[in-house]
Amino acid sequence: MTSTTVMPGGESPMADPGMTERLPGVIFRLHRARDGRLHFPYLAGSGLRLIGASVEQLARDARPALEHLGEEEYPRLMTAIERSVSDMTPIATKFRLPLKGRGVRWIALRAQPSAEQDGTLWHGMMIDITEQVAEEARLRRLSDTDDLTGCANRRRLMHRLDEEISRSNRHATPLSLMILDIDHFKQVNDGWGHLQGDRVLRALAALCRDSLREEDLVARLGGEEFALLLPLTPESRGQHLAERLVERIAAHDFGLPGRTVTVSIGIAEHRIGEDRDSLLNRADRRLYAAKHAGRNRVVTSP
Ligand code: GH3
Ligand code: MG
Ligand code: MG
Repeated sequence: MTSTTVMPGGESPMADPGMTERLPGVIFRLHRARDGRLHFPYLAGSGLRLIGASVEQLARDARPALEHLGEEEYPRLMTAIERSVSDMTPIATKFRLPLKGRGVRWIALRAQPSAEQDGTLWHGMMIDITEQVAEEARLRRLSDTDDLTGCANRRRLMHRLDEEISRSNRHATPLSLMILDIDHFKQVNDGWGHLQGDRVLRALAALCRDSLREEDLVARLGGEEFALLLPLTPESRGQHLAERLVERIAAHDFGLPGRTVTVSIGIAEHRIGEDRDSLLNRADRRLYAAKHAGRNRVVTSP
């Protein structure tokens, strides 16, 4: 490895053999011959022990390290390598590295290609980013979740709606959407206080989640209004579920002496080609029809 860095004492950093061994990751040179064969002419760093093959082996042939990757990761990494060869652009990717019996680590890989007479040579590094990936997932969950109820928030609902609408358009599969609103919720706050009102919202969200399947989504649209997204569900089935939910909520003890909590629900089935706003609007119009018809009920048309 060539280096122009000089240590304060005047020695080259490579004069310190402990240096590369202690690096928290792996630095490497990867060579790809014109026939596609890969090998690592240089490999160093404390992360080598995760690779599961010896430096000598990998200096001859990179396959033992690459094949150690999962079925999804191997082709993805090979595609990144081939793209880097054809475009001469750096590789910047991350992949999962399975460790025998010790879970999976996330590894970030960066490598700079250069064209050589006999193929392509990369100088690169790998670093374990498992903790950062977990933190990103935690933050994503937070930004998708309603604080009070733990349900999906509006943002998450809109994203899922887009996905499910596009699936419904592609495969002509049914998709139903309910919008649920608590009846006279203002009276609950006025009579029992805002904190008690919050408890009702949490209990109601839990009841909704409990009444649906794993693949359904319960989201808080705002205030005392929720949306329930039911993939692979035609309106007739959705109506049945909504009616059961209305009954279940009216029968539930929310801890408000002398008062039952009821909800009104509007439900609509996605029509092939219909956009998100139109579906939301139709469910919303039916919710208001349910309110006008006396509340504590489900409306499915017009
Ligand atoms: P309707 O049957 O027509 O829906 O009547 P409503 O009283 O439920 O509707 P309205 O829109 O008049 O009032 C909604 C109330 O919901 C008013 C607001 O204070 C309350 N609310 C909104 N968000 C929260 C919340 O996070 N916590 C609590 N406790 N109350 C909330
Ligand atoms: Mg209401
Ligand atoms: Mg409302």
